[in-house]
Amino acid sequence: MRILVTGGAGFLGSHLCDALIGEGHSVLCADNLLTGRMENLTQLAHDKRFEFLQQDICLPFDPGKVDYIFDFASPASPFDYLKHGIETLQVGSAGTINCLELAKKYHAKFLLASTSECYGDPLEHPQKETYWGHVNPVGPRSVYDEAKRFAEAATMAYHRYHHVDTRIVRIFNTYGPRLPINDGRVISNLIRQALRGEPLTIYGDGLQTRSFCYVSDEVSGILALSRANEHLPTNVGNPSEFSILECAQAVLKVTGSTSIVKFEPLPQDDPKQRRPDITKARTLLGWEPKIDLHTGLELSLEYFRSAVESASVQTRK
Ligand code: NAD
Ligand code: UDP
Repeated sequence: MRILVTGGAGFLGSHLCDALIGEGHSVLCADNLLTGRMENLTQLAHDKRFEFLQQDICLPFDPGKVDYIFDFASPASPFDYLKHGIETLQVGSAGTINCLELAKKYHAKFLLASTSECYGDPLEHPQKETYWGHVNPVGPRSVYDEAKRFAEAATMAYHRYHHVDTRIVRIFNTYGPRLPINDGRVISNLIRQALRGEPLTIYGDGLQTRSFCYVSDEVSGILALSRANEHLPTNVGNPSEFSILECAQAVLKVTGSTSIVKFEPLPQDDPKQRRPDITKARTLLGWEPKIDLHTGLELSLEYFRSAVESASVQTRK
């Protein structure tokens, strides 16, 4: 297949491009480099089956016939989407509609990267796909949450009205190599701080929970969903749940750091708990994650060490 991956220069999109090339497909990555980086694609630069198009997908574009579209373009870390609030709203609305139009034109299959943020600060725990969520529609995080909820609605509408063959994955917190060390996400912050011997920043009391999925597990779940015949949203994440304090302890153990913990204010509308119910992915896709948090942090360590080292070399220059 010739596959379009929007947001392919980002953290998850670049791992997806690697996996699709590995399966023998041709991949066209469309990315405006708002939060992505060309260095995430260095390994594909000389592969004849890989093309890169620097493109804002909010503007109309036509890359020619494609067989599948994986729509991954959007800032994803709270730090990034709060900084680029309007761009985040645009890419989830105009950007996703442009991609759905391409899918309609070329009879391509379509998979939307959606998010556990659609559940907001959830009152149902763990979160099943049937839960409609508890989202503040006018709070600071709404630029991301509502953009993704719109993108889900648009995807279902193109399926219902235009018979586009669509899928929606609700991705839960994913981590691993290529996470930028300064993107503000909890794993990037804590590992960077631990490696530098700086205090680990814990927002609020650190008792809020998240469920962290290692990137190779996430990508294999996404690929399994891309081959399934399911149009309603499917959770793909790791159901092992940790408080942020437990996550900090895991980071200290894996890095061998003696950093102390420093408490800072909790951001507005920060979800208190998050854990996917993955019964649907287990039964429908025969998929479940294999890599626990400790192993995933160990697998990520070499990347983070070299990213922290090259950032300090840059600062010294
Ligand atoms: P990322 O910021 O690393 O990657 C996003 C990519 O989209 C970047 O390369 C960026 O330059 C690109 N982009 C943004 N706006 C664009 C536009 N208008 N046109 C073209 N490209 C644009 O984020 P990520 O963590 O890799 O997330 C990828 C996708 O997965 C996002 O849609 C995100 O919402 C979703 N997701 C990720 C997570 C996670 O834990 N990583 C969780 C839930 C959902
Ligand atoms: N967090 C923290 N310290 C940090 C960064 C984040 O305590 O340095 C907390 C944040 O408040 C949230 C959780 O860790 O409760 C996960 O934050 P992240 O930004 O990674 O993603 P989110 O799940 O909120 O989108």
